[in-house]
Amino acid sequence: MTPTIRDYIRTIPDFPHAGIMFRDVTTLFADARGFRMAVDQLLTPYAGIRFDKVVGLEARGFILGGAVAHQLSAGFVPARKKGKLPGAVISEAYQLEYGEAVIEIHDDALKPGERVLIVDDLLATGGTAEAGIRLCQRLGAEVIGCAFVIDLPDLGGRARLEGLGMAVHALTH
Ligand code: IMP
Repeated sequence: MTPTIRDYIRTIPDFPHAGIMFRDVTTLFADARGFRMAVDQLLTPYAGIRFDKVVGLEARGFILGGAVAHQLSAGFVPARKKGKLPGAVISEAYQLEYGEAVIEIHDDALKPGERVLIVDDLLATGGTAEAGIRLCQRLGAEVIGCAFVIDLPDLGGRARLEGLGMAVHALTH
């Protein structure tokens, strides 16, 4: 039988903390057929739609987002954790289970009116993606869609992003 995306993803118990079931996409990325399948399927809903930029969320969103941007003939913009980007940035804080995190993009990375696709490996609570959306919108860009390999719907991310009027695309749960 032809493998599905799900078959290439493994779950590692108790990483990074006891009780967490970590979905590990490195096995998907490492397999030539799996990686191609993931990139192709991330693109499926966007046939015929024009994007100026793909914004990839650190870190696995860079790997997927770069390949997706190439296919869309779009530019690629990294949304990075605090302090990693060399130029002038704008920042957005978001809540983690314990504490707060900050992501940033260069303040000249997007222009007003540019059409953006946000890409990451996994949607959980949606906090990271929402911060990414806010960064894009603060620069005047239009977020057309958000694409993930994995959606964990019980954690509420899809509902949260759809509540913001975002179209969410995910390949598996
Ligand atoms: P959220 O902000 O709660 O939606 O968490 C999503 C972010 O955390 C993404 O950037 C993911 O890469 C990362 N993440 C959370 N859980 C996992 C996991 O089980 N595997 C891989 N990445 C995860």
